[in-house]
Amino acid sequence: MAKEKESSFKRSDGRKLNEMRPMIAKVGIIPNADGSAMFTFGNTIAIAAVYGPRKLHPQHMQNPQKAVLRCNYDLLSFSVSDRKKPGPSRRSQEISKVTEWALSPALDLNSFPNTVVDVQIYILQADAGTRTAGINAASLALAHAGIPMRDLICSVAVGKLDKNLVVDLTKEEEDFEEGEGATDFAMAKIANSDEFTLMQLDGKIQPEVINEVTKLATEACKQIYEVQKKALKDVVESNGGKK
Ligand code: UDP
Repeated sequence: MAKEKESSFKRSDGRKLNEMRPMIAKVGIIPNADGSAMFTFGNTIAIAAVYGPRKLHPQHMQNPQKAVLRCNYDLLSFSVSDRKKPGPSRRSQEISKVTEWALSPALDLNSFPNTVVDVQIYILQADAGTRTAGINAASLALAHAGIPMRDLICSVAVGKLDKNLVVDLTKEEEDFEEGEGATDFAMAKIANSDEFTLMQLDGKIQPEVINEVTKLATEACKQIYEVQKKALKDVVESNGGKK
């Protein structure tokens, strides 16, 4: 019965339950940054720029063992239809923090004591999934900057609309109110590994469907990884390996 109901569910933009929005990734978009990238999920556009490693000031914030990763996420005022008040907010501080946590496990910062790696993430256009698009862009920008990494980080949101699990929600889907409403589960994982580095749940989900959620996220992350890998290859080929 549950299966029948699942298959008859129609997403507002006609996608299959496990279908992502079109993705575009481009590396090397900001010449003055040490590394940079753009990543899009449909109408959500994120850019990331990496600066560093460079000496961290003030000195008391330095870590003599490794570089400090400092992420700054900003949803720009005109990225959404209801203009957002510019400047930092509780939401942007939280997303900056979870982005640091999502990226850190893939990075080897031990070779750069007393320094900082700054990652600036700007959302130019938002239609949900901005933290996940930002993480995908940041991961590419860090690789482009030559920061040693175990692998890329891939990030996607899995959602539950009433009783149906779907990947990569739009804003319209996040606002779904029928039945049990919408749940949004932002996830990130290390590519080619089962290690998740972000699981951020907004809403409610039954513990028995978590396995299905991680399976959907893993499949989606494989597709994201292919798009990221191609973007990195393209920049190496077009610049002969130079930034
Ligand atoms: N949003 C908005 N104004 C805001 C914050 C968010 O219109 O001040 C929209 C935007 O489209 C965003 C979506 O709400 O992508 C969902 O935001 P959420 O906090 O769930 O994070 P996201 O899904 O973008 O990671």
